[in-house]
Amino acid sequence: MRLGDLLSKAPAREEAQVEGFLNGRGLSWGQHKTIDAGQVFLTFLCKTCGVVRTFASGKKLSCLGVGDRVVSIDACLKCAACGAIVEAWFLVVSRDELHGQAPIVRLERYVDNRRDRASRIGVGAGGFDDLLERAQLAYEENLGAGAMVYLRKIFEAITKQVADIAGIPTTGNNGGRKPFRNLLQEVDEQHHIIPTAFSSDGYKLFSELSEIVHGDSTEEMALQKYRPCRSLVIGIIRNVASDQEMKRAIKDLGWNVTGLNMPISGEAAS
Ligand SMILES: [Zn+2]
Repeated sequence: MRLGDLLSKAPAREEAQVEGFLNGRGLSWGQHKTIDAGQVFLTFLCKTCGVVRTFASGKKLSCLGVGDRVVSIDACLKCAACGAIVEAWFLVVSRDELHGQAPIVRLERYVDNRRDRASRIGVGAGGFDDLLERAQLAYEENLGAGAMVYLRKIFEAITKQVADIAGIPTTGNNGGRKPFRNLLQEVDEQHHIIPTAFSSDGYKLFSELSEIVHGDSTEEMALQKYRPCRSLVIGIIRNVASDQEMKRAIKDLGWNVTGLNMPISGEAAS
């Protein structure tokens, strides 16, 4: 694998052995080098093209020495069709010598500047895609509570939407708002919105994750459980999209159901 291939997996923070890219010579602090390490290809929803496109870097990448085992890499990516530009920055850390023949390196940080030109690929669920992207960006900035707030918004909104469509009252007997837990239970009993993978073990995993999404959790716990919580929320979106009764109402919700078959991409792996 070349370094460009590893960077093309961003925002996943993967570790892999790559071909040496510094010609056997270390890059000290502040030193700059243009490296030949393969191109970087990232996919975004290009706003000019209106579809998902591959954005490619130039043949060479700009590399700046940070420390013995750390380099900063700058890339300018272009939409293959319309030429729209997205800037990307990567911080790469190696286990041993960075300038070795086949160093084991990890993507430590990734930041992209998409302005209004491109967005991350969502799951095709209207306004929820925007919230999913916000959750992911908060997670990439290590903002655990922030990431959970966005997931919670989706969780609550989708439960309420299903309740509205299915005619399940969202208010209790005394006219006040029904506790979320109760509403969710009723909605799930009628429409099975909770993915099997999360509900098979007597709802243990689901309860744990929904507690983290919905209740108060520590910053560390939120970051640690972000990925399963995100999968849970995406699973709920998918279940709702494939529910027959919901299908009829889904157009009104502004979902692009064909896109819902896409894999859960763009997730950080750490
Ligand atoms: Zn484009």
